[in-house]
Amino acid sequence: MIATSLELRQAFLDYFIEQGHMAVPSAPLIPQADPTLLFTNAGMNQFKRIFLGEDAPPYARAVSIQKCMRAGGKHNDLENVGFTRRHHTFFEMLGNFSFGDYFKKEAIAFGWEFLTKVAELPADRLWVTVFRDDQEAYDMWHKDMGVSENRLARLDEKDNFWQMGDTGPCGPCSEILIDQGKEFGCGRTTCAVGCDCDRYLEIWNLVFMQFDRDSAGTMNPLPKPSIDTGMGLERLAAVTQRVPSNYDSDVFRPLLEGIAKGTGHEYGKAATSDRSMRVIADHVRAMTFLITDGVLPSNEGRGYVLRRIMRRAARHGRMLGMEREFLYALVPTVVTQMGTTYPELRQMADTVSEVVQGEEGRFIGTLEQASPLLNQILQETKQQGRTQVSGDAVFKLYDTYGFPLDLVEDAAKEEGLELDHKGYQQELEEQRERARKTAKFTPASSRTDVVKAIEQFPLTQFLGYSQQQAQGTLLAMIKDEHLVSESRQGEEVEFLLDVTPFYPEGGGQVGDQGMLVGPSARIRIYDTTKLAKGWFLHKGQVMEGSVRTGDHVTATVNGGLRADAARNHTATHLLHAALREILGPHVKQHGSLVGPNRLRFDFSHFRGLSSRHMEDIENLVNEQIRQNTLVESEEMGIQDALGRGALAFFGDKYGDQVRVVEIGEFSKELCGGTHCRRTGDVGLFRLISEGGVAAGVRRIEALTGDGAVHYEQKLDGEWRELAGLLKTSPQEVVEKTKKLLSTLKETERALEQAKQKALDQQGASQEATIREVKGVPVLVQRIDGLNMQELRTFSDKLRNKVATGLLVLGSVLDDKVSLLVIVGKDRTKQLPAGKVVQHIAQFVGGSGGGRPDMAQAGGNQPENLDMALEQVYDYVAAQLG
Ligand code: ATP
Ligand code: MG
Repeated sequence: MIATSLELRQAFLDYFIEQGHMAVPSAPLIPQADPTLLFTNAGMNQFKRIFLGEDAPPYARAVSIQKCMRAGGKHNDLENVGFTRRHHTFFEMLGNFSFGDYFKKEAIAFGWEFLTKVAELPADRLWVTVFRDDQEAYDMWHKDMGVSENRLARLDEKDNFWQMGDTGPCGPCSEILIDQGKEFGCGRTTCAVGCDCDRYLEIWNLVFMQFDRDSAGTMNPLPKPSIDTGMGLERLAAVTQRVPSNYDSDVFRPLLEGIAKGTGHEYGKAATSDRSMRVIADHVRAMTFLITDGVLPSNEGRGYVLRRIMRRAARHGRMLGMEREFLYALVPTVVTQMGTTYPELRQMADTVSEVVQGEEGRFIGTLEQASPLLNQILQETKQQGRTQVSGDAVFKLYDTYGFPLDLVEDAAKEEGLELDHKGYQQELEEQRERARKTAKFTPASSRTDVVKAIEQFPLTQFLGYSQQQAQGTLLAMIKDEHLVSESRQGEEVEFLLDVTPFYPEGGGQVGDQGMLVGPSARIRIYDTTKLAKGWFLHKGQVMEGSVRTGDHVTATVNGGLRADAARNHTATHLLHAALREILGPHVKQHGSLVGPNRLRFDFSHFRGLSSRHMEDIENLVNEQIRQNTLVESEEMGIQDALGRGALAFFGDKYGDQVRVVEIGEFSKELCGGTHCRRTGDVGLFRLISEGGVAAGVRRIEALTGDGAVHYEQKLDGEWRELAGLLKTSPQEVVEKTKKLLSTLKETERALEQAKQKALDQQGASQEATIREVKGVPVLVQRIDGLNMQELRTFSDKLRNKVATGLLVLGSVLDDKVSLLVIVGKDRTKQLPAGKVVQHIAQFVGGSGGGRPDMAQAGGNQPENLDMALEQVYDYVAAQLG
């Protein structure tokens, strides 16, 4: 009898290995070579190219336990989590696969045997569904496996027909379900297999890939049909452990206990707190696995899904009464439990906790910051007698504060309000439209024509990896977006050659510069770019003579610049590897720029680098440079390259054949760029800056070779100059500066005191200006040169003089007006400070507010301040009237 989920995993692998399957490890949650997919969401993802016939199968049968995420993209179960007993965002999918080897009969027999014999599920409670027209499968289940006809159901395309896309492999499926009993059902009379509720729990889906659908929609039988199956481990654990839901199985129990301890809520006591606890348990697993696989919270793509998950968990935490960060404290529970199966979790555990805590902290900050605005919006909505919070208000909360819609909705609900979802969507759409418009770049139509013409020529052959000079033929020239057959001295032209040593801009590296020399022309090339699939355009100017298409030219790369770029490119690879070694494998390249005179590298990391880290990174790169390792490159198939652990720049589309650049054991990347022969050629590596460019993305700039040396020399020169200015030696610069700064501070303090003293005197001489208005003492004074803070300090000296009345102060500083109104305790009803200040502020083009006894305002019409202050007396008289 299998007891734990760990044993279940092993039993599954063992069973299929016994049946001749190759055990294949789980692929990461970020799909490695499939740009169409947000997250890995099924066991078959990593075999997609095999199923499509693009890669030869390395084995005929495979078995895997795949990390899956269904919280975005085509499969999205996020909203289900917490509400059903069977859906998770993160889950593990057990699967067996046949690549043109066994088919339906064996797949059915394996599935049935595993469930009834190995997992020992009661056969008389298992149900099976087949595709409506799949009589073959029906017979196999009924006749061969002995499944009784009243537990066999035929379903249609929606449930039981699988396809990879509109065209390509497809076929009927067959699902195995377990009847959990009436008490699990929705109670509707229509409840049956296929119902959305939890009664008939789908455990396993067997896909029979037997057709290839062509673009006309015809389904052609595949010569070698295949098998793809998927079964959720959490569901299987729940049913083998005979517990009522996934959350009651050993997969979730430790987490739920942790949550109970942390929040003080017991699981199983109340429906709403149970739901929150389930959401938190599920989401903590998801965030732990996502961050481990390199996703960081951000505002787009995968990062945004992660952020939503984290915030949703945090919100449910608040619903359980948690005010501070707490999710991060649950991460170790996941790591302890799953770390044996997924060692990468252990490696990343501290990073994950840190990222989670950071995001939680910021979100709590958002909540606190946005709450006043949120409350104001809700109050206003009610005051205006509306029942719906306007779409633009909701949008503003989301757009300015990152305040998620569901949170706004919650808060609105508490006030008996709803949201104008339509209006919100409209705002969102408008914003997207604006973004699209700014992002869209429409090439001039003439360019399109030129591109079409260029595409008639054979692809340019690149010789630049091994040589910097080559003889080529001039195939075409583009001038002012037109093809020309001749160009003359002074003209700026793009040249297409059949072969070239010039590297075109790509992979972050800038294009080569150099010379083209023809029979009667010299051309200076200042940039090289690549058009579409691989036509190289050399941009340059004819310096002397003229050229015609068909001319033979000698193309020579500027070797110095090329060597500088190569230095920076090799250094970029070393830097990338060093970052991963020192900061952790979550570091992923986001972009890079490799030019002759500098390199820039953007990468995912969640906070700034300490100077310790900067030094360690610089040292590690320089150590690699001194080792003078050979830089080698090799062409190979993409799968092969990824299999060997080469780093791919995520988001790039790679062809079937890729080039892998390898620097000893230290670095291995997919890369088409030009590199040094040995790391020693880089010479010297110097980090010059580090900073953030977007949420979770850092940018490093660095110099190599001569550039690094010049940088040192320049710093050194500046240092000497600084010493000269400070009238000291370079060694004493720091000491001397510290001294100067402390003197400066003292001077500032003395100045501040002097200012204060002057103000005190001014205040003391103010008695005379107190006026009585209808028996209330009113003191109005203008003192220029003070900011609001200083104005408040100043008011302390005067307020007791008019303790039973009104104090109004105004000041102009840098063309801005500050107003402060203080009202004695007994007068706040008649003369609320906020009303008074608002009245005055309107004359100086401003507005303000505050408490009944103290309020402040700003304004931008200093020329009206005297007049505004003069209004106070009349206003007070009127109010007291
Ligand atoms: P359901 O209808 O229950 O959402 P599905 O039809 O989406 O399931 P498949 O895409 O066939 O499921 O996935 C294969 C198996 O993976 C399912 O039989 C189930 O055991 C498991 N599974 C699917 N989605 C989830 C999920 N969100 N959480 C946990 N397990 C899942
Ligand atoms: Mg589903």
